[in-house]
Amino acid sequence: MHIVADHPLVTHRITLMRDRTTPPKLFRELVDEITTFLAFTALKDLRLRSVEVTTPVAKTTGQRVDERIVLVPILRAGMGMLNAMLDVLPYAKVGVLGMQRNEETAEPIPYYAKVPPAKGDELAIVIDPMLATGGSACDAVAQLKKLGYTRIKFLNLISAPEGIAKFEREHPDVPVYSGVVDERLNSHFYIVPGLGDAGDRIFGTL
Ligand code: URA
Repeated sequence: MHIVADHPLVTHRITLMRDRTTPPKLFRELVDEITTFLAFTALKDLRLRSVEVTTPVAKTTGQRVDERIVLVPILRAGMGMLNAMLDVLPYAKVGVLGMQRNEETAEPIPYYAKVPPAKGDELAIVIDPMLATGGSACDAVAQLKKLGYTRIKFLNLISAPEGIAKFEREHPDVPVYSGVVDERLNSHFYIVPGLGDAGDRIFGTL
């Protein structure tokens, strides 16, 4: 399942992010805002439990989120989406997956993993701004499945058709949420028109 926000408030912000003159501070703010919008859609089916609450006027039954959540940013660009996710899910744990890409083949090279093994039916949410070839995202989800996770979602800001196709082939059970879908990948495996290297744009390392 692939859900695209396709919303004017997201499209507007992605256009600002694409602009090569947008400085890192504004870029990070835009990542935060879009991530919040994506979370709103992606977390619509969070489990709730009923609780009693007394308002200044009456007793009533309310509902609170009843989930154990592990956020999994893929280093390094995924870190840019982490604060916004923690703002909406303040009790989430954070597991980190380090993945470098071979610039010639675009194959992911895992170099770090610090994710708690699944104990029950935790929800793991993988975050990475760009779904390009799909190599890192597929590898990240495969690592999580090995650790026992059975409920996984993947959030990204911009996806390429090639990456979506690979991801859906390898992990048809994992829903993907994107801000927009771009045209294609170029010969260097960058998304066109994209926004360049998301990590460089977030961390100012251009
Ligand atoms: N990673 C990025 O940061 N940008 C792309 O266009 C593709 C992969």
